[in-house]
Amino acid sequence: MYDAVIVGAGPAGITAALYLARSGCSVLLFENLTPGGQVLLTEKLENYPGYPQGIKGYELADQFAAHLADLNSIERPQGEVSSITGNAGDFTIKAEAGEDEYHARVVLVCSGARHRTLGLEKEDAFIGRGVSYCAICDGNFYRNQVVAVAGGGNSALEETLYLANIASKVHLIHRRNAFRGYQVYQDRIAANDKVEVHLSTVIEALEGEKELTGLALKNVATGAQEILPVHGLFIYVGFIPQTGFLPEAVERDHQGFIVTDTEMRTNVPGIFAAGDIRSKLCRQVITAAGDGATAAQAAFVFLEQLDG
Ligand SMILES: Cc1cc2nc3c(=O)[nH]c(=O)nc-3n(C[C@H](O)[C@H](O)[C@H](O)COP(=O)(O)OP(=O)(O)OC[C@H]3O[C@@H](n4cnc5c(N)ncnc54)[C@H](O)[C@@H]3O)c2cc1C
Repeated sequence: MYDAVIVGAGPAGITAALYLARSGCSVLLFENLTPGGQVLLTEKLENYPGYPQGIKGYELADQFAAHLADLNSIERPQGEVSSITGNAGDFTIKAEAGEDEYHARVVLVCSGARHRTLGLEKEDAFIGRGVSYCAICDGNFYRNQVVAVAGGGNSALEETLYLANIASKVHLIHRRNAFRGYQVYQDRIAANDKVEVHLSTVIEALEGEKELTGLALKNVATGAQEILPVHGLFIYVGFIPQTGFLPEAVERDHQGFIVTDTEMRTNVPGIFAAGDIRSKLCRQVITAAGDGATAAQAAFVFLEQLDG
């Protein structure tokens, strides 16, 4: 029986593990991929305090993980949590499709979010053949080629600027008539000769037989259509919360993100949620880490109450 199980070793989960271990709790920290979460998909972070020159995503992820190295009360099995059942004081956690079973007194859900797709025909078939959701992972395959980015939030704007250093041209396609991302990124995009912006524009189809060769675009304001030749398409149109392993009873908002109070408590006693998985306004590394610290403290208080 562990004091706490934490699902996901992104910034929220790593911070929660650090705080709980330092409070003397035994912790099971699950990660199905590599510690760091979405930070590993980020080329460079310019808005994390303490790094005025910015820090590469993989460097920050390494630093986060290194912080857990000497904490012996944290066990870190690699695997995907597939279900959580039970009640406060004794939750049953199944991992790797039910093959592994663990027990913990409280649960901290820090499983973040995964990219949303455009839902176009051939989108799946063209992954690795022109379609990507990660510029830092795949951008280099398109050196000196023409690429497009779909999206209008911070991720789309950041990755457009990253790709402009690699590709010969970047078409930034957004379905609305204004971006949602930070003004500082919008200004840089406006000043970058390699970026061409297509506002009020949707991608209606992916062109190509065996690999992506172009995009069928439609301007939703004028109705004008065109085929835009591109070698690569990077899609940043939002995220889907990873909650499939949780009991139905845990309250979600209309997009599926977990509803918590300010102490990161869900409506189910003993289940806490932190980071991008939460229903909230600002999904960033700093807020994920802050949520993780709050959730750990709230979980610690809850464990003390369980002890009576
Ligand atoms: C392209 C891009 C650029 C970004 N740029 C910035 C930036 O410049 N500055 C900034 O502050 N933020 C940025 N962000 C956002 C930031 O990365 C996230 O807000 C932050 O990583 C959220 O942390 P988290 O711990 O909540 O979730 P995540 O980072 O999503 O981590 C969740 C972890 O849980 C694991 N997991 C999920 N389900 C399970 C399961 N069932 N079992 C086991 N493990 C599981 C996942 O593998 C993952 O490692 C960017 C994000 C992207 C995608």
